[in-house]
Amino acid sequence: MAEPKRIPRNEHCISRDNIDDNALKVLYRLQHAGFRALLVGGGVRDLLLNHVPKDFDIATDAHPEQIKKLFGNCWLIGRRFRLAHIFYGREIIEVATFRAGHDEADDDGRHDDSGRILRDNVYGNIEGDVWRRDFTVNALYYDIADFSVVDYVGAMADIENRVLRLIGDPETRYREDPVRMLRAVRFAAKLGFTIHPDSLAPIQQLGHLLEDIPPSRLYEEILKLFHSGQAVRGLELLRQYNLFGYLFPATEKVLQSGDPVFTRFLTAALESTDKRINEGKPITPAFLFAAMLWQPMQLQAEIYKQTEETTSLAMQKAIASVLGDQIRAISIPRRFSTVVRDIWYLQHRFNNRHGRRARALLEHNKFRAAYDFMCLRSKAGEITDDSCEWWTNIQGMTFEQQERLLSPGKKSPRKRSKKKPKSD
Ligand code: ATP
Ligand code: MG
Repeated sequence: MAEPKRIPRNEHCISRDNIDDNALKVLYRLQHAGFRALLVGGGVRDLLLNHVPKDFDIATDAHPEQIKKLFGNCWLIGRRFRLAHIFYGREIIEVATFRAGHDEADDDGRHDDSGRILRDNVYGNIEGDVWRRDFTVNALYYDIADFSVVDYVGAMADIENRVLRLIGDPETRYREDPVRMLRAVRFAAKLGFTIHPDSLAPIQQLGHLLEDIPPSRLYEEILKLFHSGQAVRGLELLRQYNLFGYLFPATEKVLQSGDPVFTRFLTAALESTDKRINEGKPITPAFLFAAMLWQPMQLQAEIYKQTEETTSLAMQKAIASVLGDQIRAISIPRRFSTVVRDIWYLQHRFNNRHGRRARALLEHNKFRAAYDFMCLRSKAGEITDDSCEWWTNIQGMTFEQQERLLSPGKKSPRKRSKKKPKSD
């Protein structure tokens, strides 16, 4: 193995002032106990790029049981490869023992027939740990012993040139773990990096490997990608690299049909998600799935309308069918799929601007999400009347003004009814 390049403190921009206090505490305590302790992964990468890291991951030569002894607030998780989670209030610092790289671990039985990695549970040293990481820019270590950055893979040059490059043979690395293709897209979108041509080439052909990834893992990965603040770019890249169809098959079909209204709507929805994230506003996964599957659901409902007695029944069936198909690729936790349904069901109620029904809509606990969704449909040209303006205006009114608008014939406005306490 080549000697690593050590970039001393005075030649890089990482300052302890920008490292989370709890991560520093963990690094120092490990170091004082005689272990190696280094910051690694996205934390180092983001600090070098002057971004605020999402989390700080730590690598060490201490074994999990040794880590646990040093920290009272520590839990070991994972069965195959144990990781230490150290808790500080709501913050968790993840500490991983160096893993053996490809050369040190006995290769027999480590991969399945398709090259997928099965065992990755051998402890090693930093020289081995580097090679199991995905991209060069994710394999930089910040050493608390002398505050230097340790670079085994030419990562500093890639940071400089804003290039994402897989460590090792790209096709082998994607086959080992196909989710790395989604990580490539996520980092390219989020950091504005270019994927190196050698790392990009196999992606176009290997998208089908995503079909074997558990839907729950894809759910986590898809949220990271679409909630990175660069969802519009993320969608563009996923489609460009033939990956999107494996994640949202029904959505890809509609986009491929060239439906201009839905394309505008989806772009507007993702733009609004990006804007909210960049302004630090809360977002819900339900909105993402509701937007992605909106037109597929409507098309399905049109088909059911030919056989079902009522529009509402056709919609119910369409929703069940579209969500049922989607969760075979990406799981959607029930607490969010119920909100997806609410957002969709509430859409047609915006047509009713009178009386108790309109009042009930205003007071529905998913009103705000459904209203945002409706305004995006309006922005995309799917709704052509003034619904968005009308429902925007009414929210700015007092209760009495609203009542005058909703029930013009009424003399004295009904007072906001207080819910009666439930009797046992
Ligand atoms: P983020 O900013 O999203 O936290 P990250 O690069 O830190 O990005 P994590 O998922 O937190 O990503 O993982 C931490 C590190 O672990 C990565 O930087 C990388 O070195 C390694 N890693 C994570 N997932 C994989 C993977 N699927 N294959 C190889 N290495 C991985
Ligand atoms: Mg991270």
